[in-house]
Amino acid sequence: MNISDAERVAAVLESSGYKETGDINKANLIAIVMCSVRQSAVDRVYGIIEKLKNKKVKTILTGCILEKDRHVFEKKFDQVLDIKDFANFDIMPKFSGENAAYIPITSGCNNFCSYCVVPYTRGREISFPSKQIINQIKNKIKSGAKEIWLLGQNVNSYKDGKTNFPKLLKMANAVKGDFKLNFTSSHPKDFSDELISAMAECQKLSMDLNLPIQSGDDEVLKKMNRPYTVAQYKALVKKIRKALPNIRLSTDIIVGFPGETKKQFNNTVKTLKEIGYGVAFINKYSPRAGTAAAKMEDNVSWEEKKRREKILIELVNAKNANKKQ
Ligand code: SF4
Repeated sequence: MNISDAERVAAVLESSGYKETGDINKANLIAIVMCSVRQSAVDRVYGIIEKLKNKKVKTILTGCILEKDRHVFEKKFDQVLDIKDFANFDIMPKFSGENAAYIPITSGCNNFCSYCVVPYTRGREISFPSKQIINQIKNKIKSGAKEIWLLGQNVNSYKDGKTNFPKLLKMANAVKGDFKLNFTSSHPKDFSDELISAMAECQKLSMDLNLPIQSGDDEVLKKMNRPYTVAQYKALVKKIRKALPNIRLSTDIIVGFPGETKKQFNNTVKTLKEIGYGVAFINKYSPRAGTAAAKMEDNVSWEEKKRREKILIELVNAKNANKKQ
């Protein structure tokens, strides 16, 4: 999503006469697309703006910005702009890299997972018109894209009047051309039978699927405001694997969520072993201001979070090493 946002910002600036430079020292305008999901990313922006303070360069900040940071950054940047303002420009961004094109189909999120800032920084979910999305895909394919990524914070809750996500996926698949179709990120609660059937019909669909579980413990999931149980998640995986036997699953997991006991963490270890992902993105919990989880006691030490992260990384790596043998 950040790549797509950065492309849009670049396209808007280029349409105003700016040219991209690969050398920061030659720039007379620097636009930063911020991410507030982790504190380390926010700290990086503080570091960059500190380094730029004596340079004669205009600075713009946009992206996911928490209110508390916005007040500070308004004093440090020439302009702080809402990322939604860039979405209103009717300008087609270039596609990123050689082959991949990233197309946002929704913006914002209504889910309010208790640890997440997205509903606060990007607002409530809106779905872009399906006609506009399909035109964008056609244009990207014409420009040579070989991979199309449909993006959204909760991509499978897409709905545009008559078109829901399974229908949109089939429409995208029907676009003429030689390309692979991907989508991210999916919420397990919105992964319908209709979507699984649509995926099985789409011959251009990539077999890599990210399905964030976040925790393998029902109590922790409840505190995270993730409305599914581990049993429901496993049943969903079973259905997906039955319909799409070649699917390669990846997931996202948070370790050290407030109050996560060793027993609850071990439930995540057990679930991970049972499901057997190809890739797992493990994040150590850190509180984000304004979220529900930030009001909970962050009582798992950083050392313990690192230990839990290491266990899960080793588990996934060991599984992949065994597969290669
Ligand atoms: S679904 Fe994703 S973006 Fe939305 S609140 Fe949950 S973690 Fe954040």
